[in-house]
Amino acid sequence: MKFLLSAVVAIAAFPFAVHAQDLDPNPIVLHAAHILDVAAGKVLSPGEVLIVGDRIREAGQQVQHPADAQIIDLGDTTLMPGLIDAHTHLFLHPGAEDLQTVEESVPQRVLQAAAAAKADLFAGFTSERDMGTEGAACADVAVRNAIDRGQIPGPRMRVACNAIDILGGHEDAIGYNPAQHVLSNADYANSAGEIVHVMREQRKGGADFTKIYETGQDVLIGDTFTTPYQYTEAELTAAVTEARRTGSKVAVHCTGEPGALFAAKAGVASIDHAYQLSPETMKLMREKQIYAVPTFAIVEYFSQHPIYSGQGARDQQELAYHAAEFKKQLAAGVPFAVGSDVGPFPHGTQAREFELMVQFGMSPADVLRSDLINGARLLDWADSIGQLKPGFYADIIAVRGDPIADISALRHVAFVMKEGAIVVRKKQAGAENNQQQKP
Ligand SMILES: [Zn+2]
Repeated sequence: MKFLLSAVVAIAAFPFAVHAQDLDPNPIVLHAAHILDVAAGKVLSPGEVLIVGDRIREAGQQVQHPADAQIIDLGDTTLMPGLIDAHTHLFLHPGAEDLQTVEESVPQRVLQAAAAAKADLFAGFTSERDMGTEGAACADVAVRNAIDRGQIPGPRMRVACNAIDILGGHEDAIGYNPAQHVLSNADYANSAGEIVHVMREQRKGGADFTKIYETGQDVLIGDTFTTPYQYTEAELTAAVTEARRTGSKVAVHCTGEPGALFAAKAGVASIDHAYQLSPETMKLMREKQIYAVPTFAIVEYFSQHPIYSGQGARDQQELAYHAAEFKKQLAAGVPFAVGSDVGPFPHGTQAREFELMVQFGMSPADVLRSDLINGARLLDWADSIGQLKPGFYADIIAVRGDPIADISALRHVAFVMKEGAIVVRKKQAGAENNQQQKP
């Protein structure tokens, strides 16, 4: 798997083993031509952020410059919060499908997941919600913990272990010799009691939240979209009740009705994919602040890189259908978060999702608020990530260009800081001051 990282230079000599504030307690001032005010949806000029240890002390057009501060001039870039991807798969890579659990060992997949985490972080994604390992059980917990301990580079993670699915359901390994008993990529649960049992097992294994497959195969003929639901409203309610008992959340893979209505009534945290949402579902989502996570990028990718004959045309049609429904969802006031479903397409390239959301009708300012403010809420880090505010984690990126004027600026990440440690600094980003770079 290629991560397209050749352009990345001047990586700080991996301050991962020890956090930056332990190596060097000196404050840092980042200076750039511009800064994004996410809540206001505005770019201001110039921009500065004062960082002490792993936290932001001050951010705005001008901040204090303490006498012992290291000043880093990032030149003609825009400072903004690190990006959030609310739908990732660190344990997937292009070309891997149902047989990944047969062909690849879990240790092999863990190593690939570590590389994926690094690629995502280097592309500016400092926080992610990983939507299931697809057959590697709770191996994502080890990856999340290694990142948190500073042992490997990667975004701060919310992880789900395996997703939960019915026997013979959307993520089961169907179509193989039954005598081989090819395992599902998800954990089986066929009743409310079994769902709760699996959730407790996953929680014991270290999961932060639960992912459930609520719909199966999608059929789109003309304008008629159908997909079978997998769990009843009562079963999803049992899952949400169990999650709430432990302060956790449930997210559903759900492309359409009636599964989406069951999920909204049950009170899930997000409906991912959400190609089709009925007026009643949209109203409930607005009232309960249930986020839709469109994941356009994956469908576009498969429309261009089909893995079976006919998939290109099918996914193109699905993307067009979803784009038309997305406009209705925007008009109905459905709240959104941004997730790309990266994994089946190369990690580190998922900024494409922002461009597609704009292309299909959302303003850049709203896409950024959906990603950073709603995403932080969805990941339960509303008070510590997603905005450049005093007391928040110093998860900061600098991009070339103005993302409000042209969202594709998010593809051009010149600088990445996570928790006060510099992860990426491309030569062009204030090259004149490279000698001041933190070791
Ligand atoms: Zn997914």
